[in-house]
Amino acid sequence: MSAQKPLPRIIVLGAGLGGTIAAYEIRDATKGRAEVTVVSDTEDYWFVPSNPWVAVRWRDPEAIRVHLPPVMEKRGIDFTAIGAARVHPTENRVELNDGTSLSYDWLVIATGPELAFDEVPGLGPDGHTVSVCKTDHAAHAADLFDDFVKNPRPVIIGAAQGASCFGPAYEFLMIVETELRRRKIRDRVPMTFVTSEPYIGHLGLDGVGDTKGLLESQMRERHIKWITNARITSVEEGMMHVEEVNEDGSVKKNHDLPFGFSMILPAFRGVKAVFGIEGLTNPRGFILADKNQRNPNFKNIYALGVGVAIPPMGPTPVPVGVPKTGFMIESMVTAIAHNLAAELDGREPDEVASWNAVCLADFGDGGVAFVAQPQIPPRNLNWSSHGKWVHLAKIGFEKYFLRKVRVGTSEPFYEKFALNLLGISKLKETTKEGN
Ligand SMILES: Cc1cc2nc3c(=O)[nH]c(=O)nc-3n(C[C@H](O)[C@H](O)[C@H](O)COP(=O)(O)OP(=O)(O)OC[C@H]3O[C@@H](n4cnc5c(N)ncnc54)[C@H](O)[C@@H]3O)c2cc1C
Repeated sequence: MSAQKPLPRIIVLGAGLGGTIAAYEIRDATKGRAEVTVVSDTEDYWFVPSNPWVAVRWRDPEAIRVHLPPVMEKRGIDFTAIGAARVHPTENRVELNDGTSLSYDWLVIATGPELAFDEVPGLGPDGHTVSVCKTDHAAHAADLFDDFVKNPRPVIIGAAQGASCFGPAYEFLMIVETELRRRKIRDRVPMTFVTSEPYIGHLGLDGVGDTKGLLESQMRERHIKWITNARITSVEEGMMHVEEVNEDGSVKKNHDLPFGFSMILPAFRGVKAVFGIEGLTNPRGFILADKNQRNPNFKNIYALGVGVAIPPMGPTPVPVGVPKTGFMIESMVTAIAHNLAAELDGREPDEVASWNAVCLADFGDGGVAFVAQPQIPPRNLNWSSHGKWVHLAKIGFEKYFLRKVRVGTSEPFYEKFALNLLGISKLKETTKEGN
């Protein structure tokens, strides 16, 4: 009697927002035909979009944590939290942090960003500004915020040169402003928003709907000053040095800005396990992917999430990147699950993610929402709005997403329903190859 052929192995590398739901969707799409293994570097999933709330104690870190091993086991997905030291694409192998290796038939890279604080001297939680990019950073920021409110001084919030994630910077700015008002100390805190964007509300997307008007007016109403086209040259304790540049990149003005509390979103780059692999990554370490989310050189590697290489919208005086938001990442996940199922059927991958940008930026007592599809203008959908409903919608998004990760579902009906209401399809059927 001949031995049964082992099933092909699909490794999902990284178990953040994209990797966890990718594991569930791929498992559903390939059940019985492939083994799915998740390689994470942590046993816990943290809901990153709630980190700004953690930093002002509106949310307890524990409330946004999901312990993954039992969920993965229940879903029949192998899971390790040893972490990857290096991907070896020519050998179809992932080297783990304990020196062992796992081989794969297909690899899905979902390792998110490495935070490039080191590119600006003094930036980040090891320097003099706080961060909300990771939940432990946000918890640390909450401790410093507690100290700060006892001795109110100027606040600087913003995004550094090369940053691509602007929504959370605006969100945290408004959240802090709301919290200071609630504490009745807002009058003692001058606030400045410092951003590499060429104008307020650019968001790495050359604006969406009237994000420029909406965000400028929110900032004027809340007495927040701003500096755009800003390059942060260094940060010392209590002092930030910023170059404001002209259209041609020449320096317009130097600012020395004192602060008592500051959060600056850094530029992102690819993680060490993939950085500098010829043919796999671009010079910043982001994974090269074609419209089917597949690497053009290593065809059994797919990529999703913040780790994917997406060219900037166009030249700007100070570099800014394109944001990769939750719904866009979900659309990449869905495309990859379909494409892997196609490959197992012996067909070529043909599904294309919609790459929409949907963002809900909560301000505590209101918020701004926008939808851009496609990302590059002119767009079929180019809409922004504001109001109290955004705050409630963001809470709904958190609850629903955490439930999805806890239960291990790939797409409940009401999610599809909500996305359809917004006019967003996760798969871009119009560009499906062969149609
Ligand atoms: C503060 C903040 C707020 C945001 N808010 C929103 C929002 O409100 N709405 C929205 O749509 N988007 C938001 N985003 C953007 C985006 O949705 C998130 O950044 C999201 O977490 C990105 O998902 P990801 O899976 O690409 O990366 P991540 O969620 O960062 O996951 C990557 C995972 O890979 C793991 N990993 C890294 N290296 C290795 C390795 N070598 N081996 C194994 N595992 C590894 C990491 O530990 C991590 O768990 C926000 C981003 C930030 C930073």
